[in-house]
Formats: sequence, C-alpha cells, structure tokens
Amino acid sequence: MHEIERLLKGFERFQRRYFEARPELFDALRTGQKPQTLLIGCSDSRVDPGLLLGCDPGELFTVRNVANLVPPCGDGASGRLHGVSAAIQFAVEQLHVVRIIVMGHAGCGGIRALLAHPQNDDTNAPQDFIGPWVRIAGPARRMVEQTLPNASPAERQRACEQAAILVSLRNLESFPFVREACERGALTLHGWYFDLQAGALLAYSERADDFLPLVCPLTPEARPHRQPSNRPSIDSGQAEMLGS
Ligand SMILES: [Zn+2]
Repeated sequence: MHEIERLLKGFERFQRRYFEARPELFDALRTGQKPQTLLIGCSDSRVDPGLLLGCDPGELFTVRNVANLVPPCGDGASGRLHGVSAAIQFAVEQLHVVRIIVMGHAGCGGIRALLAHPQNDDTNAPQDFIGPWVRIAGPARRMVEQTLPNASPAERQRACEQAAILVSLRNLESFPFVREACERGALTLHGWYFDLQAGALLAYSERADDFLPLVCPLTPEARPHRQPSNRPSIDSGQAEMLGS
C-alpha cells in the first residue's frame, strides 16, 4: 500500500474509534480542551507521546522539538519568536496543567549532534538551526565530559540524554509563571526517559539523583500475555517521581 494511503486508512480508523465508537468524547472536545499534562518530547518518529502513553485526544498538551529541550526563559538570542516558551506559557497560564513532563529517549539524534559538535564552535552559520538549538543542553555535555571522560560513546550518549532532561527541568524553573505555579503547589515537574532499547520507562528521582524504572521492560514470560505484572508496585520513591 502506498504510504499516503496508509495515512488515510489510519485516519479512517481514528474516525471509527472516536467519532463512531465514542461520540461523547468529541462532543466534549468540540468546545475546548482541558488537558492535565504538558508533555515536552522529541520530534523523533519513534517516540510519539500519545501513542507511548495510550492517551486519548485532549489528554496531552504536547510540544515536540529536536532533543525535547526547553530553552531558558531569558534566552535573548532567539528574540521573542519562541514556540516552546509560548506553549509552556499557554499550558500553565491558560490550561492550568498540573504537571509538566520532559520526556527524553534513548538513541536521540539531537543529543548525538550535540556530542558530535565541536564544543566551542560558536560560528553559528546562518543556515544552521540544529547546532545552536542543541547547545541549549551544553551543560549536560560538559557534565558528561567531566564525570565520564573514559566512558564508551554509548554510555556518554545515554548519560547526556538523561542530563539534558535535567537541564530542561532547570530551564523550566527559570520561567516565572512555572516557578510561581510550582511554589503554589499547583504544578509539578517530571523528567522521564523512554529507553527504547529495553522497552522501559524511567523517571528522574531527586532522592536517588538518578533515573529509576517507572515501568520495567517486559520479561520474556510476560510478553505473550502482556500482563501488567511487569510494573513494580509504587513505593515512596516512585510516588515522588509521579508527584503524588
Ligand atoms: Zn530525540
């Protein structure tokens, strides 16, 4: 089947699934949205947040960009044409989302570009948009170079992917409206990591200062049945990661 036909068949499935089988959902969504979660994910075609997390239309307010990065609030270099910042402001001030999840992933091409780029190259060619963008995560790269000087490329990549999530969480806190909502207890920030090599979902734990499993990989025995037994019970550390 031609690829465009696959896409149209996909829309027909969507029509049947929602407009036919669950008309009440779109009856509500026609008048507006009330998502609880802002998810900032990567543009990578393998990490569609709605698909990964099994969300219905209206559940996730989503920003996707190269390497799931949040620029700092005071980033004057990009002027006021700031799509990511505008989406964050809208989600927090207008939609009143209760959580923001920055979801990174294994095998991120944006992070690979950051690590491959000469560190002090600030030449900023006018037609290069990727270099300046991924350098938002420059602190993550510097951390990896300082703490893992002898690690393998794969270890450095994974460490940088996870450290970049923390850079974005820090940058989120540089927005006054985010900080204020967090201080009021109306908003929580989360760093998640989709390990697409293992098929697992991890979350950053402040207490452990590490990414810990939220949903473990399927065990070989679990695969045929897809039982939820792969999910460990939620302990206090996980409750912290979930903001509950
Ligand atoms: Zn990516």
